[in-house]
Parts: sequence; C-alpha cells; structure tokens
Amino acid sequence: MFDQTTYYFRQAAEIMGIGKRIQRLLENPQRVVKVEIVIERDSGELATFTGFRVQHNNARGPFKGGLRYHPTVNEDHSTALAALMTWKAAIVDVPYGGAKGGINCDPRDLSPGELERITRKFTSEISDVIGPNRDIPAPDVNTNSQIMAWIMNEYSRLNGFSPAVVTGKPVELHGSPGRDEATGLGVAFCIREWLKREDAEIKDRTYAIQGFGNVGNFLAHHLSIRGGRVVAVSDVFGAILNPNGLDVEAVRAWVSEHGKLEGYPDAEAIPRDDLLYVECDVMVPAALGGVFTKENVHRVKATLIVEAANAPTTPEADKMFQDAGVRVLPDVLANAGGIIVSYFEWVQNIQQFRWDLDDIRSRLDNFMSRAAKTVFDLAEKKEIPVRTAAYIVAIGRVGKATVLSGI
Ligand code: GLU
Repeated sequence: MFDQTTYYFRQAAEIMGIGKRIQRLLENPQRVVKVEIVIERDSGELATFTGFRVQHNNARGPFKGGLRYHPTVNEDHSTALAALMTWKAAIVDVPYGGAKGGINCDPRDLSPGELERITRKFTSEISDVIGPNRDIPAPDVNTNSQIMAWIMNEYSRLNGFSPAVVTGKPVELHGSPGRDEATGLGVAFCIREWLKREDAEIKDRTYAIQGFGNVGNFLAHHLSIRGGRVVAVSDVFGAILNPNGLDVEAVRAWVSEHGKLEGYPDAEAIPRDDLLYVECDVMVPAALGGVFTKENVHRVKATLIVEAANAPTTPEADKMFQDAGVRVLPDVLANAGGIIVSYFEWVQNIQQFRWDLDDIRSRLDNFMSRAAKTVFDLAEKKEIPVRTAAYIVAIGRVGKATVLSGI
C-alpha cells in the first residue's frame, strides 16, 4: 500500500522536478513505532495485539492523523496512510504533519471493557511519542469519540490535563461541535465545488455511497438535504438500492435502531459489492482502501469518483479511470474535512474557548472551498488529473517548509 501512495508522490514530484534530494527527505516516514499490547480478556485469558504509530513528516507542524482498529492494520498500511495525512494537511493548509496508526484487532469481538483496556494500554505505550505539540491522534476506521476520551484520560493521567493531545473527543469532554459530521460534510462541500465547474449543483446528480459509517452516513445526510438523490448505500453486511432515491433520514434512523442496513423496507437489497456498479453519476467509496482495482474499474458506471475513504483506488485503476474519462476527486482533498475540524478542535482546546456549530461549518466550508479551488485551478491550467494537482500543491508546501527549516 505504501508503494501505491509513493507512486502518486513520485509522479507529481517528477512533474515538479523537485530533485532527488528533497524527494528523499519527503518520501519515507520519520518514525515507526510498533508496540505489543497485552490485556486480560473478560474471561481472564491473556490476549495480545500489535499497535502501530507511524509519523511520516512534521515539517509543517505536529504529526496528525487517525487511529484505526481493524485486522488489516500493519506497518505498511499505517505508513501509507501516514504519508497521505502529510499531503492532506498541506493541501487544506492546516499546520500539521502526517501520522497514522492503530491496532490489529476487530472491535466487534471485544467487549467495551476490553476495548477500553486495549486503548489505555496502547496510549501508555505510545505516550512518549504523542502530545499536543508532538503528535495528535484522531478517530479513523472503527474508532470513535469514546475511544478518544479514553486516550485523553490516559495521557492526562500520565502527563497532566491535556485535552489537545487527541481530537474527535465527545462534545461533553472538550470535543468540538461538528467534528462527528466533518468528513462527510467536507466531502459534500468538495463535490459542490467540483460541480460548480460543470455548471451544476448537488441536486442535479445521483449518488451511491459505499460504507455507512461515520463518513458515509453524514455525507448521505448532507447530500440529501441539498437535494442530491442518493440511490444506493452499503455497509459491511449488504447494500440497498432505490433508483428513485432513498429516504436518507429513514435509512439513518433504521441503522441507528438496527445497527445495519439489512432489512430496510423501502429499497431493494442487493449484494454488498454490487453497490460499486450501480447506475449513478457520482460514486463515493467511504469505507476501506483498495476498492477500485484493474479487475473492476470497467464495471463502474459513474463518471465521477469521490474518495471519501483513504486510498480506495490503486494506481492502475486510477490510470484506467483517466483513460475512460472518469474524473477522480482524490482522498487527500475530498476527505480532508475531518482533519480540518480536528484542527478547529485543537485550537479550541488550546484557547480554552468554545466555538459554535455555525461558525465551525462556515470555517470548514472556507478551508475546503479554498483548497478545492487551488487544486482544481491547477489541474485545469496544467491539464493534469486532480490527484496529481493535489500532490503538487502538497509537495510544494511541505518541500518549502523543509527547505526553510533546514535539514
Ligand atoms: N482519520 C481522519 C483522516 O484520515 C482524520 C484525521 C484527523 O482528524 O487527524 O483524515
């Protein structure tokens, strides 16, 4: 996976002609931490897991990025995703570097008590390398505000009151209003900015969303309240389709009551992976990486792909989309709403002053619109893919900071 993100990086670096020296400074992670997490299960048995924190680059500010709890978490994945965070933070111009990490566990097999023990153990194992001015974790796949609260509490127990050590906390515990919806809302703003260039609005398009977790759920909401027709959504168990448009609020209510889409009455149930091939204008992968590969690109009917997930498109698939005239709005831009509002949360923690939701939404809109404009303008001017333009903006900013700081 790291080879894939490196591929995109090198492609842009070559066009820019930044030279081997800077390329070498920007490519590899600065630190890789791997820890063994041993806990006692509720049954009294011992269980061990492996935790990672990869810090890719901090030329522009403290490392920043999520923690995911998933069986696929390993060093390669964490490194790839950490690099994406470096570029993402630079593209939307928040003052951070990039990091990522997590634990190779499946939270569905863990009781709340076990999840808390794993989280506290992991936090104490990495407490020397994180901190409000050092590295600030956040939620990612299968992690949530409760887990962030435990991280804050454990870190503060060791280091004194430190709410700014982690973002995505509960609003009742130094979290920010609007952080939960931020990635989904940011994706909606990014789509709106792109559609402006097609003289269209959100309401003029149909959408399919793969994944109905934190990102997909809020994205569906923000598209549908703007008149967008969401025709299909999926989760880990299955997918539902209604070509006339789903009643998104009813679907959200169903999922919050039943925990999954399965059984939702006003739609056709379709096999989970068929979601990617449904008839729609805009396809949004909002779950895990590696969704579009050279094996399945030809089956995709949408003409716009919006990467709400991190790394959903392999480089071969990306090239095939380009050749077929399918536009891709890349992860490093499209899903940056999360890190943007994480930045707002961190600033509020440091200022010890709470902003309100309207303020946060309009600032998120400003950050996302500005970044999208910069990237889309460059892509248009140089006639290059949006992803390449996004990497050029990012590499330019991180490279500049690196050179200014000195080696
Ligand atoms: N996990 C999110 C991402 O991949 C958010 C990271 C953050 O808020 O630091 O962008």
